[in-house]
Amino acid sequence: MIRVERAKVYFEVRKGFFKRDIVKAVDGVSFKIDKGKTLALVGESGCGKTTLGKLTLRLVKPIEGRVFFDGLDITNLKEKELKEFRRKAQIIFQDPYSSLDPTQNVYQIVEEPLLIHKVGEKKERVYKALEDVKLIPQEDFLGKYPHQLSGGQRQRVSIARALVLEPNYIVADEPVSMIDASSRAEILFLLKELQAKKNLTFLYITHDIATAKYFADEIAVMYLGKIVEYGNPQEVIKEPKHPYTQALIEAIPEPEPKNKDRLRKIIGGEPPNPINVPKGCRFHPRCPYFMKDICDTKEPELKRVEGKREISCYLYEFRRDY
Ligand code: SF4
Repeated sequence: MIRVERAKVYFEVRKGFFKRDIVKAVDGVSFKIDKGKTLALVGESGCGKTTLGKLTLRLVKPIEGRVFFDGLDITNLKEKELKEFRRKAQIIFQDPYSSLDPTQNVYQIVEEPLLIHKVGEKKERVYKALEDVKLIPQEDFLGKYPHQLSGGQRQRVSIARALVLEPNYIVADEPVSMIDASSRAEILFLLKELQAKKNLTFLYITHDIATAKYFADEIAVMYLGKIVEYGNPQEVIKEPKHPYTQALIEAIPEPEPKNKDRLRKIIGGEPPNPINVPKGCRFHPRCPYFMKDICDTKEPELKRVEGKREISCYLYEFRRDY
């Protein structure tokens, strides 16, 4: 369904009048997601996971590499084909507060994609989308504005808006991180239910590796624009192999925002700036297993070590007792 091949997304950032820096947001990433499956993309803020999600929707373009959707190369689609593709691929944003127009009511919000894509049977489709996300009876919600809804209800409206065009592929970008703890499990359960019912394919972007275990079929851990570990979520969470994944797992017990501080205590400091990516393994300035003249010399490749598990770390090239 989705295939990304050696993709790089770099951004130019102005630095003063004449100078420009290059941010390496995605730096040579490959993966695929099979139809009806979920890949969880996990990592700290700024690791490139949202850019990678946008890349699969062609909301950003790679400077290198290619992206395929159902076998179709979408990397260089022209406007007309791109619009057609966008009917089939949608996004659910992290923040249902800022992603919903406060001046539109629920009907107008969910109807908007149908207007953009000139799709008929608007009323029936809006009613169906609200039923899918369990905002029923629909009449109780259609005339309400975002500020009249709870956080969980707002996220259900976002999901209804994403579903109304009947897409096959959805990027769910931190869909539960801005809502209260009691609604989180309900929203994830709803997404799971919708996936089974409609055979949806998901890219689930999250900083919370624990929810990936429940929601995803496969997991990719990202650090500074690269995938550093890939595999089955149960196995990766039970026995993380990359030192960065190990730190993410160790930080799990604390909910956000303490989780961020805890992670920084465990591995030390902030992630390095994607403008100045460290030489060699990009995790080496924070890694407790750093090996001089190896880890700071050449970047380790993402290599298969057992079953589906792939790791980018020299520990697993020089040691075979994992
Ligand atoms: Fe740590 Fe070296 Fe492995 Fe990088 S390659 S994660 S620095 S042990």
